[in-house]
Amino acid sequence: MHELAMATSMVEAIIDTAEKNDAIKITQAVLDVGELTMLNPEQLRFMMDVIREDTIFEDAEIIINMIPIEIECDKCGFKGKSKTDENMDHLMAVATCPKCDNTRINIIEGRECSIKTIKIEKEDEEDA
Ligand SMILES: [Zn+2]
Repeated sequence: MHELAMATSMVEAIIDTAEKNDAIKITQAVLDVGELTMLNPEQLRFMMDVIREDTIFEDAEIIINMIPIEIECDKCGFKGKSKTDENMDHLMAVATCPKCDNTRINIIEGRECSIKTIKIEKEDEEDA
């Protein structure tokens, strides 16, 4: 289960970061999920909900940004979105230059799955 492994490591990383910053509660987490990761955002969200139960992350809002795949072509110099819309089930469609059909392309965006921002609540140090 691709999503489960990713959800687990995301939740762990978010809680870990929050705790290192003395959080008592996490209020929001923004995630960047590249389309090339082939993660289903709804499944990812669902699994994170299960994993984060009874943690400081429990009530936080989770925002998932899907990052489109961007490529750079060695041959014609094309830089931009790949032909993903046609066939997302096919990884081969992703790895082709839309301009010259070259398959030796560099993927410059869309491969990552990362935590962008986390909003936390700390103990009332400001009021103290
Ligand atoms: Zn090209």
